[in-house]
Amino acid sequence: DPRIARISSAIRVIPNFPKPGIMFQDITTLLLDTKAFKDTIDLFVERYKDKNISVVAGVEARGFIFGPPIAIAIGAKFVPMRKPNKLPGEVISEEYSLEYGTDKMEMHVGAVEPGERALVIDDLIATGGTLCAAIKLLERVGVDVVECACVIELPELKGRERLGNKPLFVLVDGA
Ligand code: 5GP
Repeated sequence: DPRIARISSAIRVIPNFPKPGIMFQDITTLLLDTKAFKDTIDLFVERYKDKNISVVAGVEARGFIFGPPIAIAIGAKFVPMRKPNKLPGEVISEEYSLEYGTDKMEMHVGAVEPGERALVIDDLIATGGTLCAAIKLLERVGVDVVECACVIELPELKGRERLGNKPLFVLVDGA
């Protein structure tokens, strides 16, 4: 697809952020390229529009950028998967491991119903820990997670393997 090359070149790589040795994939420059940003959303919408998906679950923070326009276009609701202590209502939470220590992800109770079909969206998959936590939260309440989707995959980190048999769709590979 000719749109992929433009999306790839609109993503800026910033070396040594947030710490030495990390090549940070910066999607804010993709958001500045009106064509590449629209193409990104369109590619996801084309893939998911006829898949009977009723929930787009976006992972904080950059899943909040890509998720809502996809949700509107496919006629699904948007559910934020948030960092701890941000959601005001009753939540369920899932702990997951980071390079050092652990973090938590939370979702509002009642946001989704058992049997609903969900797409989980984030900007990037590295080790896959974040997406795994999102999948677990949704599956704990009986939601069918149809697929995960990211703009960028860092294939060397093998996050795809950590997702097991859960399908993962990505647009571009990061360095
Ligand atoms: P994982 O849990 O797969 O190891 O890490 C993925 C999470 O970290 C995602 O929520 C993603 O936003 C964030 N992340 C890690 N590295 C990068 C990066 O280089 N660029 C961006 N934009 N996000 C990153």
